[in-house]
Amino acid sequence: MTEQAIIGLIGGLSWESSAQYYRLINEAVRERLGGVASARVLMWSFDFAQIEALQHQGRWPELARRLADAARALEAGGADFLVLCTNTMHREADTIEAAVHIPLLHIADPTAQAIKAAGLTRVGLLGTAFTMEHDFYRGRLEKTHGLEVLVPDAEDRAAVHDIIYRELVAGQVLDASREIYRGVIARLVERGAQAVILGCTEIMLLVGQADSSVPVFDTTALHALAAVERALGGGAGS
Ligand code: GLU
Repeated sequence: MTEQAIIGLIGGLSWESSAQYYRLINEAVRERLGGVASARVLMWSFDFAQIEALQHQGRWPELARRLADAARALEAGGADFLVLCTNTMHREADTIEAAVHIPLLHIADPTAQAIKAAGLTRVGLLGTAFTMEHDFYRGRLEKTHGLEVLVPDAEDRAAVHDIIYRELVAGQVLDASREIYRGVIARLVERGAQAVILGCTEIMLLVGQADSSVPVFDTTALHALAAVERALGGGAGS
């Protein structure tokens, strides 16, 4: 029997979403292989209090250094490929890739592939301010994948960002915040979004397809499933 590749998760960003990755990955492996099969996983889990402070201080080189250290630790532990369980920290994807010899499965790629497979091209993007405003994420969607990306207006971006950092990463899922997200999604659809990307790995805790009139693409689920495909496909190493 062929061994599954070992998935190296860089998590704790936050652990609320890492727990979802771990569950989704193991559920998908059980569904694919049956019985009591489960995934071969190593996880590095950060203290998000430290990470969040560095993010809001704009200390990206320090964050990149910590991510590279985590990546090296997972590689040394035997991981065959890496899954960074956050959209935001893909801002430092190049540094991670340069630090190791194993591949990084970029979160934007399975997301964009699913959107294109559905025949859609103009997408609304929800995420942290860093993800919605810096170029690393929408740039990859636009330049590498040819999608047109709409982000909410400044007021809506602030609301989406604050709910992530004040509530979702702290395990709080509030009906009032779900209503706010529904409004943000509706305004993106009014502006022509054919789909909405849940571009922060905790947003799926708050909203899903029922909260949107257009298809929703959940980066957590798509990234986790892509990791399983890779682990079972044997394309990533032993
Ligand atoms: N998990 C979130 C994301 O996907 C936000 C937390 C973080 O900044 O890492 O962007």
